[in-house]
This record gives sequence, C-alpha cells and structure tokens, in this order.
Amino acid sequence: MFVYDFSQGNKDMRDLLGGKGANLAEMTNLGLPVPPGFTITTKACQVYLATGEEPPGLREEVTEHLRRVEQARGRRLGDPDDPLLVSVRSGAKFSMPGMMDTVLNIGLTDASVHGLARQAGDERFAWDSYRRLIQMYGKTVMGVDGARFDEALEDAKRRHGAEHDVDLDAAALRDLVASYKRILREETGQEFPQDPRTQLDAAIRAVFESWNAPRAVIYRRQEGISDDLGTAVNVVAMVFGNLGPDSGTGVAFTRDPATGARGVYGDYLPNAQGEDVVAGIRNTVPLSELARLDKRSYDELLDIMARLEAHYADLCDIEFTIERGKLWLLQTRVGKRTAAAAFRIAVQLVDEGLIDEEEALRRVDGWQLAQLMFPRFDENARRQAIAKGMNASPGAAVGRAVFDSATAVEWARRGENVILVRRETTPDDLDGMIAARGILTCRGGKTSHAAVVARGMGKTCVCGAEALDIDVSARTLTGPGGVVVREGDVLSIDGSTGEVFLGQIPVVDSPVVQYFEGTLDPASGDDLVRAVDRLMKVADARRRLGVRANADTPADAERARAMGATGIGLCRTEHMFLGERRRHVERLILAESDTEREAALEALLPAQRRDFIEILAAMDGLPVTVRLLDPPLHEFLPDLTDLAVRVAEARARGEEAAEDARLLSAVRRLHEQNPMLGLRGVRLGLVVPGLYAMQVRAIAEAAAQRIAEGGEPKVEIMIPLVGSVEELERAREEATAVVAEVAARAGVDLAIPIGTMIELPRAALTAARIARSADFFSFGTNDLTQTVWGFSRDDVEAAFFPAYLDMGIFAVSPFETLDVEGVGRLIRLACEEGRAVRPDLKLGVCGEHGGDPESVRFFHQVGLDYVSCSPFRVPIARLEAGRAAV
Ligand code: ADP
Ligand code: MG
Ligand code: MG
Repeated sequence: MFVYDFSQGNKDMRDLLGGKGANLAEMTNLGLPVPPGFTITTKACQVYLATGEEPPGLREEVTEHLRRVEQARGRRLGDPDDPLLVSVRSGAKFSMPGMMDTVLNIGLTDASVHGLARQAGDERFAWDSYRRLIQMYGKTVMGVDGARFDEALEDAKRRHGAEHDVDLDAAALRDLVASYKRILREETGQEFPQDPRTQLDAAIRAVFESWNAPRAVIYRRQEGISDDLGTAVNVVAMVFGNLGPDSGTGVAFTRDPATGARGVYGDYLPNAQGEDVVAGIRNTVPLSELARLDKRSYDELLDIMARLEAHYADLCDIEFTIERGKLWLLQTRVGKRTAAAAFRIAVQLVDEGLIDEEEALRRVDGWQLAQLMFPRFDENARRQAIAKGMNASPGAAVGRAVFDSATAVEWARRGENVILVRRETTPDDLDGMIAARGILTCRGGKTSHAAVVARGMGKTCVCGAEALDIDVSARTLTGPGGVVVREGDVLSIDGSTGEVFLGQIPVVDSPVVQYFEGTLDPASGDDLVRAVDRLMKVADARRRLGVRANADTPADAERARAMGATGIGLCRTEHMFLGERRRHVERLILAESDTEREAALEALLPAQRRDFIEILAAMDGLPVTVRLLDPPLHEFLPDLTDLAVRVAEARARGEEAAEDARLLSAVRRLHEQNPMLGLRGVRLGLVVPGLYAMQVRAIAEAAAQRIAEGGEPKVEIMIPLVGSVEELERAREEATAVVAEVAARAGVDLAIPIGTMIELPRAALTAARIARSADFFSFGTNDLTQTVWGFSRDDVEAAFFPAYLDMGIFAVSPFETLDVEGVGRLIRLACEEGRAVRPDLKLGVCGEHGGDPESVRFFHQVGLDYVSCSPFRVPIARLEAGRAAV
C-alpha cells in the first residue's frame, strides 16, 4: 500500500507519510476543515529514486484515491465544465522549509480554465490560477528557470501600469498565460500538457525528484538528516485564496516563535494564493487584522489554534486559506522556535497543565542553553541588518572590517578589535582568524572552513552572507542598496542569528550567565531566567551523572562551583610550571647531578604546594582530581631555532655563551618529531626522577595543611597517558610512599585515591588489568579520539576536516561530539571490564566531550559517575545529564 487517504493516517506516522501528511491526517481525524486528499508514502519515493520508476500498482492506487476526492468534492480532475484542481506537495519526515517543491492548481487546461471561470463567476481568478500553474509546473516539472516567468510577469505589470499582481485584469492574465506557454516552448521545445492526469503524474515524479535537488541535499547535510528517507507526496483538493477580497491566505503561530510569548501571531494576505504570504510580493497584514476583515473566520481560526495547541501540547504553526469566507487548514506542525522561546514555552505548558516537568525538560536542549549563554547585542540598540548569512558559530562580535589575515594580525597586535571579512577562508587564514573577534564570509555554509574552524575556536562567525560582495583589492565590501564598507569601518556580527550590522552595537552579558554565576537572583530576573532556573532544578533532581569542571586556577574553580560543578574532574598542572617558574624547570632539565636536580625540584615544591592549597580551599568539601604533569618537556624550553640563532650570533661576536650552548644541546636532545606521541605523561614521570614525587608531595602537603586549617580537602591524584599497567604500578608505588610519609610526618590521615586517565587505546583494551591498580578511571577523550583515529588534533581541524564534512564522511568533528561507534566502543569496553574487576571503580570523563550535549547522553548510558568540562559548559552538562535520565 503506497497511498493513504487523509482519514487513514495520524500524527505518529511521519516516517511513512512525512510530517505534512501525518499532520494533515491528524487534523482530518480531529474533524478540522481540511480539504480532502491523500498521501503517497516515502516508501514509494524510495522505490522511485532507487529504480527510476514508480512502484508497481502506484498508478492504480492514485486513481482509486483520486476518485474518492472527486466524489467528496463532486467534481472530476480537470473536467472542462467544472474542474477539480489539486495541489501536489512535498513533505518529508523532517521539515525542510522551502527545500523541495509544490505545484498548485493541477488540472487546469485551455479547456477547463473556462469551466473554472464559469463556476466561480470570475474570469480573472481562473486565468490567475492558470498562469500560476504554468509557472510552477514549468519550473518544477519542466525545469525552466523561474526568472523567465518573473520577468514576463514584471513585463505585464509594466505594460498595464499595474503595481501588484492583483492589479492585472483577466485579459492581462490571459495574455500572461500565453507568454508563459511561449517561454515553455522556447526553453524546452515542449507544450504545456493538456491532459490533467499527465500533469498530476509528472508533478508527483517531480516532487519525488526534488528530494535530490542540490539545495535539499545541502540542507540535509547541514541538519544531519539522512539521505535515504525520501519525501512523501500529498495530493490535496485546491481551495482558493485568490477568489477576491473575501478570500486570502495566511500563516499563524499559537505563540510567538521568537520569544515564546502567549498570543496570536501570524500574517495574512487577502486575495492571494500559496507562497504569496512568505514570498513578499505584497505587504501582508498582521493576523489580528483578520478580526476586522472577516470576524467569523478569525474566531474560528483562534478556536482551532487553541484546539491544536492543546492536542499537540506544544507550539503549532499553521497554514490556512480562506475561500469566500470559508476557512480551510492546509498544514500544521509543531513549530520551530528560538532557544529563548523553547525555554519559556516549555515552562508555560507545565503551568497550563499540558505537560509535566519531565516532558518540559525533554523539550529543551543543551545547544539551546548554550545559545542563551553567549553575550549578545543589546535588544534596545538593534537596528536594520545589512545582510544575513548562516549563523555558523554563536556570539556577538564587534570590530573593524579587515579583508586579509595579515592586516587582521597587525591591527589586533596594536590593540584593535577586528572582524576578518573574507569571501571564504582557507588554512592560510588561521592566524587572522585567531586574531579576529569574529569572522564573516560571503560564501560557504555551516560546514565551510570558516564555520568549522570558528566553532572549534569558540569564535563568532557568520558565513555565506551572499548579499555581500567583497572586493579584496579595493578593500571594500558592498551590500544591498549600495551600502559600502571600507577597511577599518566598524561591523557588528551576530553569530546566533547570522545578521550583519553596520557600526557598533553594544554587547551585553547574557542574563542567563549572570544567573548561573549567582549574580542575578532568578526571582528578580525576567521570565526567561525563571524558566531556565526551573528546568535546571528539574534536571538536577533527575540526573544520575555528577558534573565536575576542568579548572586549573582558584578563580576558575570558584566560577565552576558557582556554575554548579560538584568537583574538579581535571586540574591540569602544566601552567604551574610556566612564567618565572620556567627557570627552575630549565634547571631541572639541564641538571647533571642528583644534587642539581633536587635543588631545582626543591625550588618548585613550595610554589606547587601553594597552588594546591588555594584550589583545595576554593573547592573545600568537593573532589579535586589533579593530573600530574603531562606535556613534552621541550615545551618548557626555548624554541630550537631562536636559541640556535642566539648562540650563533654570540659566537660571531666572539662570546662563549656557555649557558645557552648547554641549553641548545638539551633542546636538541629532547627534540621529537611527534611530541604528542613522545616523552610525556607517565613516561616523563618515570624517566625524570623526582618530578612526579615532588608533585605528589606538594599535593599531600597541601591536603595536610588544609586539614590543619580545619578544611575538608578531597584531592585525587591522576596519572596521565598510561598504556600499560606496569607504568601505573610504578608511578602509584612511588606516590603511595610519598603520601604515607607526608601523612606520618603531619600526623594526619590522608586518604588520597590514585587513578589514571584512559586516553590510549591500549589502556582501554587492558582496562581489566589497569583497574587492579587504579581507584578511578577518567576518560581523556581528546587524546583518545586523537589516538583512535590517528588524527593530530592540533592540525586536522584546519587541514582537512572541512573537506571531510563536505564529503559527508562525518557530520560533525569527532573532537566536538564523541564518536560513539569507535571511541565510544572502547569506552564501553573499558567501563565494563574495569568494573568487572573492581565494582566500586569510579568512572568519569574529562575531555571536551564532557560538555557536549550529545556526548553527555552517551556517558550517561555507559554508566559513568560524572562528566567534567570547562566551567562555562557545566550548566549545559547538568541540563543534558538530566535529559538523559528522563
Ligand atoms: P511548503 O512545504 O514549502 O510550505 P506547501 O506544500 O505547504 O509547501 O505548499 C506551498 C503553499 O501552497 C502553502 O502556502 C500552502 O498553504 C499552499 N497550498 C498547498 N496546497 C494547497 C491547496 N490544496 N489549496 C490551497 N493552497 C494550497
Ligand atoms: Mg507549507
Ligand atoms: Mg591527554
């Protein structure tokens, strides 16, 4: 069965009937005024696309269902005396607005146009409908460039002195039909088909084929919609909004999709058909105006909107048409909305008793929360955008326009904020992108180089603002209406909406962030802050996963705590060796005797201890996982080239430069081709005697001191980059001894768990053995992704990820969203095997994925105890952990 009458479907059949068909069926069964019609399934489309032919039996089924529509309306398709007309409409499972095709008024021919005119008593209307059919059919089915029809229409308006299409009379429209037909003939060598059924069948095929139209393919790639689904086709008896001033067509929302405010929103256009409302051919009136124009239809519409909202228990958007005072519904769906609207509406619906709190939590997500946390342009200072592109990477950025990377770097260096404006970016633009506050491109979509790299850097980006023309040699950007932006002019770009503004728009902190930081009491905040507060409470009450933060400084730790982190899952110690402490590290590396080495370590110890005391104080009572030193040693030494030049220059001057020469040979000795796979992590701890012991001593002494001060330190020691249990055992043995010694000397009981990061495939594969020596595992998913895929995470994002994303090899960077299939499989294995050996093994994750909405769900499912992420993402992880649990 490839065809369903509207009365045979329902809203849960979106897989088969597409969203539009499923909801038309649902409305039909609710008894709402939907014109009769039927839906050809996505299955039929899949067969057609695979074989190039309609599935066997489809034609007969269509005939059968068409007959029912004809009976319901008392007319035959294309009957010369009194024709039934139908629309043929695409409608996939996921809404793809405007991406595929629709043809209206199928069934009109040179003969039936007269019948239609007689029946309606309106010549003008009939010819208007016919010219629309030829236009849509010509474009969609016969592949003629739509611009040709537009030109002919403009031409007709000019000749008749008509301002709008409605000002053309019947004779003018009849001439237009003739012109349209001529265009068809010229462009395709074919006549417009005069057999109604031929029109219908060809339109159905064209809608099937529109699934593979380039813009639809691109849209699916961006939205992560599978190419295999196919579209359903809806055949619907026409109702006419172009039958005069008491007819019209409109769209309506049951709440404001921009803000979530309750009320009636929408647009209405009298004497119009189909897409006229959104196409902007004439000015629409606000929906409220309909109350004046046609009170009865307006009241009925409001009544239906209330019913639909109660029925779907969500914001609905609606397409309707009024034909001579009679209201018809042509489409509804649960409407898209902004992030702010999503939060507000979810809470309103709870208050209205339509959904419960758990359902409200399902209705919002971490991406939306992230949107609400970016700084944004002051609403009160908003102005007209000069262009709109893709909202590639959120945020609000203001700066001077520059047109090449070198200028961006140069201007940024002297303290200017710049917006890097490029036609599109390439890996050569990386420096400029780093230097800029925001990036604007005129070409490319959400997977373009600019978009991918900007998102990776957390930098605001608008891409593909096609209305802008860039002239690099003249250093100008021109926009619609002759706007010219010169190098140095100030631009404001909104990465959340894709808008580009001329001049500086003031940026304000998000009130949602102020709320999370504890500086804004939700009771005194607006309804958005109250909605976020309410849903966060639901999420916190439901979630099983703990949420910790990655934080290395007391300030970060405090911020994380305010954001709701209940511990630090990753306290890196690298930065504690920089600045003026670098000198001691150099001495450590250059040490030629135990005494020299010990002296260097001795000098580092008090500073390290102080670091830990401060962090443990900021996180008093909460767990703090300290990772021992991880990066390659040479990172603490001067650059090889710089140093070699310095030594050479000194020698040329006849100086000895003994110190530098010694340093140089050490740098040469430590130089590695692949430092990320080299002497780092536990390897460093094992081959540089005393280094890890010093760190462990600093940690243990800090804990002892906090206890003496009356605090409650809960520190944990984490050994990085372990590949074999032997490495962990050695490091652990040394650490245990140091902790015991410090405890004995201080006379306190120090229970410090010692665990390891799982960030190498071998560690995951041998988790059962490693678990015997580890109190906890923390998955370092950044390194694990890098080592599982063999991707250098410092290079690939700019080098070839954009190309991979374009080719669809992956839909999102595996460094952003966990690769569940590959990396996730190793994590699952390590969890299972580790817990089998040690049921109380604590499991966490501390890579960037810990704050990625989709990945959090996986971490919940796989049974981790906590996720750890950057402080800013803590609320996102809390929300998603709650959602994963309901
Ligand atoms: P899209 O999915 O792009 O919104 P639709 O299939 O909904 O395309 O149709 C395009 C326009 O034509 C819409 O405004 C719709 O309301 C209108 N339309 C579709 N079918 C009919 C019909 N049978 N009678 C009147 N208008 C229709
Ligand atoms: Mg529609
Ligand atoms: Mg790592």
